[in-house]
Amino acid sequence: MERNDDGLYSLAVGTRLSREHIVELTLSSESTVMWRYDFTNGAIRWLPGIGDLLGLPGGLEDEVSTKLRTALEPLTTSARTSGVWQKFELEQQFTEPVGRTRWTQFRARTFDGESGNGLIGVATDITERHENHQALTDLAERYRLLVDYSPDAIVVHASGVVTYANPTAVAFVGERSSTDIVGRPITDFVHPDSIPEMRHRIRSLGAQGAASEAAEAILKRRDGSTMVVESVSVRTTWNGSPAFQVIMRDVTAKKAIEAALRYQAALVEHVSDAIVATTDTGVVVTWNPAAEIVYGHPALAAIGRPVSEVVGATLDPKAIQKAGGVVQDIHQRSDGSALAVRVSVAEMGTGYVLVCADETAQRRAELHFATVVTSLEEGVIVLGRGGLIESANPAARRILDITAELTGSSLSRLHFTGEKDAQEPQPDDPSAETRMTGIPQNGQVLRAHRPGGNEVWLSLSCRSLDSAAAAPHPVVVSFTDITERRSAANRLIYAATHDGLTGLASRTLIVDRLTSAVESDHRAGMTSVLFIDLDKFKVINDSLGHAIGDSVLRVVGERLRHGVRRSDVVGRLGGDEFAVVSLDATDSCSVRSLAEHIQALLSQPIFVEGKHLRVSVSIGIVMAASGDPRSAEDLLRDADVAMYQAKTRGPGRYELFDVALRERAQRRLQLEQDLRSGLPSGELSMVYQPIIDISSGHMSGVEALIRWTHPRFGAISPDEFIPIAEESELIDLIGAFTMETTTREMAKRRTEQGLDIELAVNLSARQLDDPELVTAVGNALRTTGLQPGKLCLEVTETALMRDPTAAAAKLNALREVGIRLAIDDFGTGYSSLAKLLQLPLDILKIDQSFVSALDNSKDGEIIVTSIIAMAHAVGLIVIAEGVENSSQLAVLRRLKCDQAQGFYFSRPIAPEALFRLVL
Ligand code: C2E
Ligand code: CA
Ligand code: CA
Repeated sequence: MERNDDGLYSLAVGTRLSREHIVELTLSSESTVMWRYDFTNGAIRWLPGIGDLLGLPGGLEDEVSTKLRTALEPLTTSARTSGVWQKFELEQQFTEPVGRTRWTQFRARTFDGESGNGLIGVATDITERHENHQALTDLAERYRLLVDYSPDAIVVHASGVVTYANPTAVAFVGERSSTDIVGRPITDFVHPDSIPEMRHRIRSLGAQGAASEAAEAILKRRDGSTMVVESVSVRTTWNGSPAFQVIMRDVTAKKAIEAALRYQAALVEHVSDAIVATTDTGVVVTWNPAAEIVYGHPALAAIGRPVSEVVGATLDPKAIQKAGGVVQDIHQRSDGSALAVRVSVAEMGTGYVLVCADETAQRRAELHFATVVTSLEEGVIVLGRGGLIESANPAARRILDITAELTGSSLSRLHFTGEKDAQEPQPDDPSAETRMTGIPQNGQVLRAHRPGGNEVWLSLSCRSLDSAAAAPHPVVVSFTDITERRSAANRLIYAATHDGLTGLASRTLIVDRLTSAVESDHRAGMTSVLFIDLDKFKVINDSLGHAIGDSVLRVVGERLRHGVRRSDVVGRLGGDEFAVVSLDATDSCSVRSLAEHIQALLSQPIFVEGKHLRVSVSIGIVMAASGDPRSAEDLLRDADVAMYQAKTRGPGRYELFDVALRERAQRRLQLEQDLRSGLPSGELSMVYQPIIDISSGHMSGVEALIRWTHPRFGAISPDEFIPIAEESELIDLIGAFTMETTTREMAKRRTEQGLDIELAVNLSARQLDDPELVTAVGNALRTTGLQPGKLCLEVTETALMRDPTAAAAKLNALREVGIRLAIDDFGTGYSSLAKLLQLPLDILKIDQSFVSALDNSKDGEIIVTSIIAMAHAVGLIVIAEGVENSSQLAVLRRLKCDQAQGFYFSRPIAPEALFRLVL
């Protein structure tokens, strides 16, 4: 086997391999060595060079044989069982003694020939090819890791569509995974502002591998926010087509740092504080514009000099830094003026940075403030977060009268009490709330107890010194002494709420107390108001003078004050009207006994200036449950209504208010108003009722009776509206109207019809008091020409008995004019007959109640008999009123009654109707 060719051939001998086959096997590899294996005897042969391929360069034949056999074993085992002319291939790795790894490929074909059957193949060194492939695999893996873990975002896009995105890119655009990105247009992730520039960059990348300059771009994130990146695009290929790989870096932080640096630089340039850098030995290195202004030295003059020299004072940065870094000091400006500075020192590099804040103005202001606070009239106390006093101005000491040290103690030592009652719980420390909440308190009115024992009233305000900070807050407490102002105000309040004469509560205070009593639901839930009015007080005042009147009122006030419970409020409403508001009279029974108790108290004789007086009171009572819708004024009005009602029943009575009472009162009020307007507008008219002479049966006279046709309510009885009119001057107008109308009417009938009958006109009690009465009546008679003897004035028994002496005087005056007088409604007033009979009277009219009593009782006749007898005894003419039937008339005739009137003869009717009848 000298020649390679022959060697090949000789190995192939006995195989059915053609020469072409062998050449094909051999030439398919570069460094190839042929071998042969016989299945029959297991003989193995090879050409030289195989040792190198098996990692045994220069190896012994046995060694080589064993190694080759082992290496070929997988081939020989599988080839033994397979058909002829099969191809086999195997790659094996060998390590050379020097440690180098070598890869060998074995390829073979089976043969079956005259020299037996077996495998014939070649061994090829493929070490280099193998190494190349591995390197590529390693490279790809390394690249993948690099891309996956890159802090920079990397995407590949081809034809405008994203084909790859690394995890950082996913994070940059805020998506969940790369599948959310891949396949979408690249423009989905780029802010519209950055798209034109991106297109321009891509177009400029002509050749494979070309890269763009790093440029800023704005990414559009999933949540709509944006992100600034620095991006580089590289032209590449993806699956054989041109593509762009984009590498993007997050520059947010970088930009923030840049901004911060710019800001810091600007700060140093523009702050008002001097910023000076020095070397470690204190030589000025930098000197900012503020330093130029503060110290008056230009930077050029300062730099290079020791800082102490420039600031005009010893300034040792190292020492300051060691002592905590901050000092207050006095430096000197270039012009020699003093500068109050706050120096902060920080170590930087090998030197120091000094920040010198000019606090001259601030110190001056502080000084001013201190002086102002010291000279303030207002007390000022500053409390620390712990509530302890940190400082107090002289006014605070003066107002609180404290000479001892205040600093370090708390406000509670001043024993504050509140406005209303000393028993009422008060915060120990009025600043507590502001300290805990930061909310200011303004104008709290408090009493502080001075160490000396007396007290001072304060108007006190609290304000947090730093409300932005967390609680507890330091607080400034300021206060003024309002003792003087308060007592003056108190006197005013007292004057406004108390009656000067009796010292009792005024109407205002009564209303006030009543309001709070009704509004609060106090325990029993019932408030009673007693409206007390002195009966006939006017008489005392008019006859004995105001001084005595006042004394009586004082005594009444005194008795009331002591006669009721402490919790009851006693007040004077004005004039002779008093009120008691009671929270204890909870039912009508207890309120009645309270009223009776008061009446008993006040009916005790009163001694004033040697005089012995007796008064009685009328009381109106109203009770209100808590939540009663009536206001205090309403309640007083209702009590007044009840009082009025009590009065109409006579002196010394009391009445409980009920709704019917109020309705009556309201109707009274309404009627009074309507009467005022109705009188001039002709709603009033006169009717006449004939008076018959019983023995002759002729009309001897007429009684004029007034009528009111109310536009809404129709006919209103004089029994209702005359008492209303009597309460005001309306009665005088009505009196004048009746007098004029009736006298004119009668005068007319006399002249026109020749009628000679008497006219009876009613006089109300109040008219009797009218000093103008006699003149007015005289005038009426004169103008109409009616003879005085033809006019009879009727006055009721009760009107006469109110003041018999005054009445007698008035009656006498009337009589002198020639007018006749009748006592009306006789028998209803329970008056002393003896007194009545002393009055100058002509006629007695028996009240109709006695006449109607004639119908069914014997008693009625007895009374009427005695009245007639008595009247005749003193020469009075007797007229029976309200005769309604013939039997009454028969009795009256039998009893010698002189005259009669009543429905039996005629109702009161209009003059036209009545006098036409007479014709
Ligand atoms: P009086 O003076 O007692 O008048 C008599 C009243 O009895 C009248 O009521 C009259 O209509 C009524 N009367 C007459 N006959 C009968 C009868 O047979 N049966 C019944 N049941 N009643 C009869 P009137 O007109 O309603 O007047 C009521 C009261 O009003 C009068 O009582 C009088 O006190 C007062 N009054 C009436 N007109 C005037 C007036 O012009 N001035 C004043 N001051 N008071 C007047
Ligand atoms: Ca009458
Ligand atoms: Ca009468």
